[in-house]
Amino acid sequence: MVVLAPMEASLWAAGLGAIAGAGAAVTYGIAGKSSRLFGPSVYRGNPGQRRIALTFDDGPSPSSLALLAYLQSESIQATFFQCGMNVERHPEIARAIAAAGHQIGNHTYSHPKFLFKSISFMAWEFERTQAAIEAATGIVPRYFRAPYGYRWFGIGAAQRKFNLMGVMWTVIGQDWRLPAQEIAQYVLDRASPGGIICLHDGRGVRPDPEIAPMLEALREIVPALKKQGYRFCTVDDLLRLA
Ligand SMILES: [Zn+2]
Repeated sequence: MVVLAPMEASLWAAGLGAIAGAGAAVTYGIAGKSSRLFGPSVYRGNPGQRRIALTFDDGPSPSSLALLAYLQSESIQATFFQCGMNVERHPEIARAIAAAGHQIGNHTYSHPKFLFKSISFMAWEFERTQAAIEAATGIVPRYFRAPYGYRWFGIGAAQRKFNLMGVMWTVIGQDWRLPAQEIAQYVLDRASPGGIICLHDGRGVRPDPEIAPMLEALREIVPALKKQGYRFCTVDDLLRLA
């Protein structure tokens, strides 16, 4: 058994604390919404402007069509971070979203976690998705969102190769796990000027995702925010107006 003198014990405890602190810092660097540790990234627009960007990840899927119709009925332009695999599966849905004037961003090809991945792997995920989106819609994305929000060493180089700015969020709606009422409440409690709200019109690269709770929540979120004087725009417009 090793017995530590009081001084040694306190140094040891301080060391452990430092390691734990560094761990938290690294975790924040990987997944923190305002982190730029690994590559250029934004997470909000101008807090002085009453604008919000709605963003939808993990599409396109057949479920995206109901979302598209709702956004059109509310005259809202949003941003869709799409997975290349889903775009190849449903190019006509990606095309319909683009044709309605929405912005399309890159959400990787297969929706992997980028932890411990190589630059070449990340670059391939970006490249194939840029190609899939361009082939389906004619749009070359300028923004990407990392699956699960995880960035990793070298992602900055992969971003530079495709001229992609990272986009995180001010609010992520927990819409993959909460019922509609709670999604709406969660988002409305956290919405703020210049905010970027992250919701989902898919589930990774699953073929038939269920997004009904998100759609039901959106029907509460949008009128409530409009009543509070918010206007909706794409991420591109939100950042240009910043
Ligand atoms: Zn995702």
